[in-house]
Amino acid sequence: MDWLLTPGPVRLHPKALEAFSRPQLHHRTEPARALFLKARSLLREAFRTQGEVLILTGSGTLAMEALVWNLFAPGERVLVPVYGKFSERFAEIAESAGLEVDRLELPYGRVPSPDQVARPGYQGLLLVHSETSTGAMVDLPALARAFKEANPKGLVGADMVTSLLVREVALEAWGVDAAASGSQKGLMCPPGLGFVALSPWALERLRPRGYYLNLSRELKAQREGESAWTPAINLVGAVAAVLEKVLPKLPEHLALKAWQNDLLYRVGAELGLSPVPEVPSPAVAAFYLPEGVSYRAVKEAFARRQAVIAGGQGPLKGRVFRLSLMGYYNRYEALGVAALFREAFAD
Ligand code: PLP
Repeated sequence: MDWLLTPGPVRLHPKALEAFSRPQLHHRTEPARALFLKARSLLREAFRTQGEVLILTGSGTLAMEALVWNLFAPGERVLVPVYGKFSERFAEIAESAGLEVDRLELPYGRVPSPDQVARPGYQGLLLVHSETSTGAMVDLPALARAFKEANPKGLVGADMVTSLLVREVALEAWGVDAAASGSQKGLMCPPGLGFVALSPWALERLRPRGYYLNLSRELKAQREGESAWTPAINLVGAVAAVLEKVLPKLPEHLALKAWQNDLLYRVGAELGLSPVPEVPSPAVAAFYLPEGVSYRAVKEAFARRQAVIAGGQGPLKGRVFRLSLMGYYNRYEALGVAALFREAFAD
């Protein structure tokens, strides 16, 4: 397939591909340590934190789990607005960690408002910045501020899995204490790495649990450029290479991603399709399927044009389809995808 239009994994950045053509490094050698430290420093810049970023071998869900298990103790109360599949996952992870979880259930496609999270009595708020299952984006700084006014000692944990390098993000400046992300979305690398960013305040509040996922042990090793266990060092090299290329031109990159996703919504509007999200994220465009048209038919129309798309999740399964240009696409390729989208619906 030529056109990977799924919201992760995505079309790879050429710098990631190039990184994989290098000889294998042993992770406990000086060149590997230097690479690991470089990747961590670039990730701190990407998350905009004065704290630390830990690189874990696993996917975004692992990073979400590591965040929750290492920052909250069993019995603590957290507020989790649920407005899609991944915010549902955050609530499930918090329950699995023994927390007392208050879900704020919203219809898929909607987003929570600041007054809905301005409720006292919580040790934490868990939010998904870009809810990939519905294509919605929350106003993270406004929500973090409202929550902290009601809970001055509360921690805000955010899933930035499809906002890192897709949309502006900032930890301390936004009142976010910890964030989770992964390699196979906005970073345009293969799947296999999860990242946990911790603000200086979150670092002081670490209450490590578990063995493989003990973030204090990771922190100690990663400050020296190593990880506690064998890391996916080749992926670390790919992440460093992509960040080194993209970060110096981040505003232009984010503007391109926003333009490309708007283009998908403009084509959808021309075709009479209704968007799913109330407030769209630039990571993915989600549309309701027209009356009488099955997801399978739409998927096959794209597949005939060598394009892979995504369907709905949870209650949206069989009701929506999703297209993403989060991967490595330039302006001209995006226009090609727009033409393909129109053609697929002309079938
Ligand atoms: N959070 C969000 C917002 C996502 O989009 C995804 C994956 O699509 C995840 C979490 C889970 O990430 P992974 O599939 O890498 O575990």
